[in-house]
Amino acid sequence: MNPALRTIGLGKSFGGFKANADVSLSVKQGARHALIGPNGAGKTTFINLLTGVLPPSAGTIWLNGEDVTYASQQGRVRRGMARTYQINQLFAELTPIETVSLAIAERQGTGARFWSRVGADSAVIDEAEALLTRMQLGAMMTRRTSTLPYGKQRLLEIALAMACKPKLLLLDEPAAGVPEDERHDVLDSVAALPEDVTVLLIEHDMELVFSFADRISVLVQGALFAEGTVDEISSDPRVKAVYLGE
Ligand code: ADP
Repeated sequence: MNPALRTIGLGKSFGGFKANADVSLSVKQGARHALIGPNGAGKTTFINLLTGVLPPSAGTIWLNGEDVTYASQQGRVRRGMARTYQINQLFAELTPIETVSLAIAERQGTGARFWSRVGADSAVIDEAEALLTRMQLGAMMTRRTSTLPYGKQRLLEIALAMACKPKLLLLDEPAAGVPEDERHDVLDSVAALPEDVTVLLIEHDMELVFSFADRISVLVQGALFAEGTVDEISSDPRVKAVYLGE
């Protein structure tokens, strides 16, 4: 079976500086894979290459066995890749049920007509409700998004990505900036994502990664530095040294 995601020799240079260098990473179908690394390691650059925000300087990207190195961002979404985005001002004025319903309608190609129909489409709203309940947003789905606790807003970003029905979900630091008392909410919801969705978590926080991942890759100065199970990575003195040296 093809890996859900594979990069071969992926590289990105800014001028003479290599932000990513020869990154060959394979994410198995159904995996809970984490990519960690200290600040400046090249994690954001890597996610921008995967999603097509930036073109690579070298290497190839394969999604479920298909070369998507030069596919558009939208083309990658159509092929089953979704990532989380920060909720923008427009969405902040909507409620979670409106936001996710709109994303589902968009996926079905009826987004533009969604609001003009009286009562909208009940199947779309049912799907949105189920998704929001799964992400522990059921009790808040009719509140304006800008009034939700920050942790809930981060969960809505994940629900929005899940509305695309992805095969591969890229989570970019889902708990970043979330206050301590809301973090367990985010961690629980991330842990409860459907098993058939492959997840690549890009994260700086090692504790979060250790509670979530079944495989961890460590990026340092743009290159893969170590890869292994949670036990292997958490006991690797070289990895600890890299983090302590930040
Ligand atoms: P991380 O997300 O792991 O903190 P980044 O991918 O943001 O790391 O950055 C990796 C390195 O690449 C940093 O040294 C950063 O300054 C550099 N970098 C990132 N984007 C650019 C850019 N557009 N132009 C020049 N340097 C960049």
